[in-house]
Amino acid sequence: MAAMKRRDFVKAAGAAAVLGSLGGVSSLTLAQSKKRVVVVGGGYGGAIAAKYIRMADPTIDVRLIDQNSRFVSCPLSNEVLGGERDIASLTFGYSDLSANHGVRFVNNEILEINPEKNYVLGNGNLKYFYDKLVVSPGISFDFDQVTGYDEAATKVMPHAWKAGPQTLLLRKQLEAMPDGGVFYIVAPPNPFRCPPGPYERAAQVAHYFKNHKPKSKIIILDAKDKFSKQGLFTQGWKMHYGDMIQWVSGAEGGIIDEVDPASMTLIGQVDEFKGDVVNFIPAQKAGKLAHVGGLTDESGWCPVDQKTFESSIHKDIHVIGDASIAGKMPKSGYAANSQGKVCAAAVVAALNGKPAPEPSYVNTCYSIIAPDHGISVAAVYQLKDGTIQGVEGAGGLSPMDASERTRALEVEYALGWFKNIAADMFT
Ligand SMILES: Cc1cc2nc3c(=O)[nH]c(=O)nc-3n(C[C@H](O)[C@H](O)[C@H](O)COP(=O)(O)OP(=O)(O)OC[C@H]3O[C@@H](n4cnc5c(N)ncnc54)[C@H](O)[C@@H]3O)c2cc1C
Repeated sequence: MAAMKRRDFVKAAGAAAVLGSLGGVSSLTLAQSKKRVVVVGGGYGGAIAAKYIRMADPTIDVRLIDQNSRFVSCPLSNEVLGGERDIASLTFGYSDLSANHGVRFVNNEILEINPEKNYVLGNGNLKYFYDKLVVSPGISFDFDQVTGYDEAATKVMPHAWKAGPQTLLLRKQLEAMPDGGVFYIVAPPNPFRCPPGPYERAAQVAHYFKNHKPKSKIIILDAKDKFSKQGLFTQGWKMHYGDMIQWVSGAEGGIIDEVDPASMTLIGQVDEFKGDVVNFIPAQKAGKLAHVGGLTDESGWCPVDQKTFESSIHKDIHVIGDASIAGKMPKSGYAANSQGKVCAAAVVAALNGKPAPEPSYVNTCYSIIAPDHGISVAAVYQLKDGTIQGVEGAGGLSPMDASERTRALEVEYALGWFKNIAADMFT
């Protein structure tokens, strides 16, 4: 121990001698010569990127900036709607990331990105300078597609597609709904965050209705003609909830062009639908900051080099998570986690003058249909011809007609998955 301390002292003295020979470089200059990474968005992608950059190279100064001081997880938020969990169990702070990994958390909303001068601008005219910027802002909603569905309408017909107050509002409406009422879920067009999410939501709410309002109905009006894990969902719905859940495809009249929140009416291409409670999940695009920062293309999402997640538009800015175009990966929390790690490795390599390592990516999406009935889809991915593609033979879907034991085990796996990924992000 004493010898180590002496070695450290000799090193420090050597450094001081070098500094002396450079003609009096101040300690301030030394601190500034530390590489700086700024990560905007402390959710499934950003929190992981920040932590893993620090773990790989603790000499890098990492600031993690989020507009909220606490993060509320969308995964498992459908259980809040089903009455099986409270939102506190999905809410996390950043203090452990700071204490355990030296990530410097900043609570601010970023309003602008300046890619020429390498800084982001937050409220209070605060500038945060970077050598590398990682952006993981999640999604925003495309309010131009359906007449009448705008920010104000979300207070009447909540989307609950960003967990928090919207989730609680929808839960309150479901609690107030009379038995025998009709609950509509309007499911969005592709691509959108969490492809199985609307169908898991239907099951979770059906679980609540079955026990508290058994005469009620759930109707999913879908912009699409098929959906994720469709066979498994349809089988599970029928098994637990009989005819309570009805799904209307786009071709059968599920596409909604207009809404009238005042009369709780959805106007489709064929019919009009009047609901007691309406969960309207709008079409999606990359989070607002990605648009403001000029990181999106005509698709509304962010093109990136899928090996490093560096933006194809702006150098030294990496985009991960839902906002990025990531080949065959779905927009999921687990995918964002995996991308955060690949991006962290690439950023650390670049800052140390090394080439990015060969990436590997993973995703599993669990859905809980009933307290003892879970299903999943899993995949492993690799980079092939510059795009992220599934590895053949790896992953797959839960089997149809599985035993009760298998279905119950999948619920345990889903809850274990959440516990682990939350610990990975926030401790
Ligand atoms: C109902 C539902 C259920 C889901 N279930 C699952 C599941 O079971 N498994 C799964 O893998 N995925 C699930 N998902 C998907 C998952 O939530 C997203 O894919 C994931 O959150 C994407 O991570 P992200 O980092 O891109 O965005 P987010 O996790 O949303 O993080 C974005 C962060 O950026 C911050 N931010 C945005 N703009 C700014 C700004 N300008 N300044 C500062 N901060 C900013 C936000 O406050 C937020 O904290 C579900 C989604 C929903 C809606």
